[in-house]
Amino acid sequence: MTVTRFAPSPTGHLHLGHAYSALFAAARGDRFLLRIEDIDITRCRPEFEAAIYQDLAWLGLEWEMPVRRQSEHLDDYRHALGGLESRGVLYPCFCTRRQIKDEIARSPSAPHGPDGPLYPGTCRRLDDATRARRMADSEDYALRLDAARAAALTGPLTFVERGDTVAVDPGLLGDVVLARKEIPTSYHLAVVVDDALQGVTLVTRGQDLLPATHVHRLLQALLGLPAPAYHHHGFVLGPDGKRLAKRDGAQSLRALRDAGRTPAEVRAMAVVA
Ligand code: GLU
Repeated sequence: MTVTRFAPSPTGHLHLGHAYSALFAAARGDRFLLRIEDIDITRCRPEFEAAIYQDLAWLGLEWEMPVRRQSEHLDDYRHALGGLESRGVLYPCFCTRRQIKDEIARSPSAPHGPDGPLYPGTCRRLDDATRARRMADSEDYALRLDAARAAALTGPLTFVERGDTVAVDPGLLGDVVLARKEIPTSYHLAVVVDDALQGVTLVTRGQDLLPATHVHRLLQALLGLPAPAYHHHGFVLGPDGKRLAKRDGAQSLRALRDAGRTPAEVRAMAVVA
């Protein structure tokens, strides 16, 4: 029994790339779930969420109810965060974006990931007394994963991508943010907790998230959660040969529908080169 999911964020209208992703997941799953990733309340809007349901139904997709909305499950993430805390793999980070940028500029040997420089680890080196004092002063902070310490606890890990075994590189994205002072989660933590709680066995999503899977596998091992299999797919390209983005309004499913395209036509357009 393969359980798949489509997990859009309601930060804009769905486009052909989302249609491909959703159709791909639905075709691979004996059970197909929908999840609304609406943790970033500053960017998510109720009208985009309503549009997601309409657009997917218009395409002809059916999903199981109830839909999981991340904003309704903060306690689940808080609980997982507590589990990570008790394993000693979290530390508070007080750095502002500006400070991180300056620190990276000062240290050319700072670690790099697939998308550029990684967090240089400034706050990992703070002593306990300083941490306690700064947290009590209620400075804003994020909780970061100490990737090296986490990897030492789990030992070597692998995940399955398109049937191949991939060795986890625990430091690939560095010490990622797992929560903020006011929000007990981040994308990485929520996705791992949700996929486990929803019983997802095959995670299908765009190739851009392949690096994140290294972090996700690490978190699954730390939290004692099952590891789903993965299939990261390519992108639907726009007329300019570039990957579609939510700002490319013309390719949104609603714009195509309003221009008279049928669901069958749109399904036929949602292909990966
Ligand atoms: N919410 C993510 C996005 O819209 C997808 C996350 C996932 O599939 O793991 O890009």
